[in-house]
Amino acid sequence: MKIQSSEFITSAVNPGGYPPGDLPEVAFVGRSNVGKSSLINKMLNRKGLARTSKTPGRTQLINFFRVNENFMMVDLPGYGYAKVPEEVRVRWGKMVEGYLKNRANLQGVFLLLDCRHVPTAQDKQMYQWLAHYGVPAVVVATKIDKLSNNQWAKQQGVIKRTLPLSPEHRLVPFSAETGRGREELLEVIAQWIAQ
Ligand code: GDP
Repeated sequence: MKIQSSEFITSAVNPGGYPPGDLPEVAFVGRSNVGKSSLINKMLNRKGLARTSKTPGRTQLINFFRVNENFMMVDLPGYGYAKVPEEVRVRWGKMVEGYLKNRANLQGVFLLLDCRHVPTAQDKQMYQWLAHYGVPAVVVATKIDKLSNNQWAKQQGVIKRTLPLSPEHRLVPFSAETGRGREELLEVIAQWIAQ
C-alpha cells in the first residue's frame, strides 16, 4: 500500500465526538513516550501531523486521521506516565476502553512497546485486554535503531515471555528514524481494511 494523502480530521473524548464510522479504522496505543506520534508521522510520511512531544500527557485525546480517503488512523492517548491523579487514569481507561469496545468499524490495533524495556503491568493489561476481546492486534517494538541485532534477539525473548505473546500475534520491530518495519505495518493495515 502507498500513502497518497493524509489529513487530521478531529479529536474526541467520547463517542459523541467521533467522526462518522463509515471508513475502516486502525488504532495505535501504547505507553506515553513510546514513540507513537513518531511512528504515525513516519507511516504517513508527514513530519508534524501527529504531535510529538517530550511532555508526557499533552495528548489526552483520541485523534482521527483520514488516509488515502479510504481509512482512518486513530491515535489513542498514551498511558503509564507517573504521577497522574487517579481520576485522570480512570478517565483514560473509560475513554480508551469506550473506543476499543464499541467502535464497530475498528479493524485492528497496533500495541506499541519500547524495544528496550520490559513490558509494564499496563502494557500486559492492554495486550491481554485486546486478546480477550478478540480485537485483531499486532505488537510493535519501537525505536529498534537503538538496539543491535544481538540485543534485539535477546530483548525479543523478554517481550514475548513477559506479555506473554500468543502465537497468533506478530511482533514487528520498527524505527521512525530508519523506516524499518514501515512496509510491514502498511501491509498489515492493507489486510485489516480489506476485511
Ligand atoms: P509518543 O509520546 O508515544 O507520541 O512519543 P514520541 O513520538 O513523541 O517520541 C518520544 C521520544 O522518542 C522522542 O524524543 C522521539 O524523538 C523519540 N523516538 C520516537 N521514535 C523513535 C525511533 O524510532 N528511534 C529513536 N531513536 N527515537 C525515537
